[in-house]
Amino acid sequence: MSRRPWLVTGGAGFIGANFTLYARQVLGQPVVVVDKLTYAGNLSSLDPLRGDPDFTFVQGDIGDAALLADLLRTHRPAAMVHFAAESHVDRSLLGPRDFIDTNIVGTFTLLEAARQYQQTLPPEGHAVFRFLHVSTDEVYGSLAPDAAAFHEHTPYAPNSPYSASKAASDHLVRAWHHSYGLPVLTTNCSNNYGPLQFPEKLIPLMLCKALAGEALPVYGDGQNVRDWLYVLDHCKGIARVLSQGQLGETYCIGGCNEQTNLSVVETLCQLLDARRPRADGLSYRQQLQFVADRPGHDRRYAIDASRMRQELGWQPEETFSSGLAKTVDWYLANETWLQRVQSGAYRQWLQTQYGDQ
Ligand code: NAD
Repeated sequence: MSRRPWLVTGGAGFIGANFTLYARQVLGQPVVVVDKLTYAGNLSSLDPLRGDPDFTFVQGDIGDAALLADLLRTHRPAAMVHFAAESHVDRSLLGPRDFIDTNIVGTFTLLEAARQYQQTLPPEGHAVFRFLHVSTDEVYGSLAPDAAAFHEHTPYAPNSPYSASKAASDHLVRAWHHSYGLPVLTTNCSNNYGPLQFPEKLIPLMLCKALAGEALPVYGDGQNVRDWLYVLDHCKGIARVLSQGQLGETYCIGGCNEQTNLSVVETLCQLLDARRPRADGLSYRQQLQFVADRPGHDRRYAIDASRMRQELGWQPEETFSSGLAKTVDWYLANETWLQRVQSGAYRQWLQTQYGDQ
């Protein structure tokens, strides 16, 4: 490899795969991905990199200290970019254990591996090594309708097992900087959408259900508000923080684009109506159905991304309508990907395609 690679954890997941493709195809950066391939990890998302000599995929758990030590010794990365996580709030309500194991203990194991690795680097290596932890705005809790948006100094107030586990991991990352001098950066980002997202999250879930002629289940009154960011804009923001962020600091990344869940689903229906009209000529909106709310459902998240704009010159390039149109077009053009990630056959296919990689 010409340049020292970035070690990307969770690079077969939604944002990690988009980031890996961006790093390789746009930045020309060598990448080593380590991913456990849970239900949310899809190797097919990285298909465009098959045969690329500057791309390595390793199936493994971030909780496996021996594996991490071996990977760091072998690849000597210039950076670690940490996406691997259990990421779905609904799953965390049903079974929080995996969230504690991966998001907290896994992050701890990774930090310890990074700390030991850093000690092996020559002084010039210290200057370039960075550990970037990818986190969420959900650590800040729920906002009142008229409250100011979350920013880097908003106190933590997580409400779900998922957000509590991410909050814990953020604190560990911070502590490893202050206690051990690990060169860390943390990003807290709002809801992402775009290609390659597993169809359990709002936008791809609604797309799949709409196309299958099923009900579109909207929690509660549909008025919960989220800030939405197109995934590639997030990836560009992470790369900017990695190259220009101040060590030990946190950066809030967001789309400046608050939407109620209901308006997201309605816009999706309009896009589908125009692109793939229903056979009966009616709108997909007919399929909308309000269902019992998620327990402890945070009412509103919003991000103030002015630090990213002012200090790092980053801002989203997509508007919600341009990003959502691209997303719908991508899913309509990639129905095989969708079917594959949802079927049990996907696992078999994986073995056949990639052997014991
Ligand atoms: P995802 O669920 O799509 O992907 C997670 C990936 O991590 C999967 O490929 C999975 O196989 C892998 N993984 C899980 N446990 C692992 C383990 N123990 N060892 C190795 N790999 C493991 O998640 P995502 O939506 O891409 O989110 C990535 C990161 O970004 C997460 O840390 C999440 O908290 C954060 N984040 C997500 C959003 C969002 O809207 N999706 C917003 C802000 C922050």
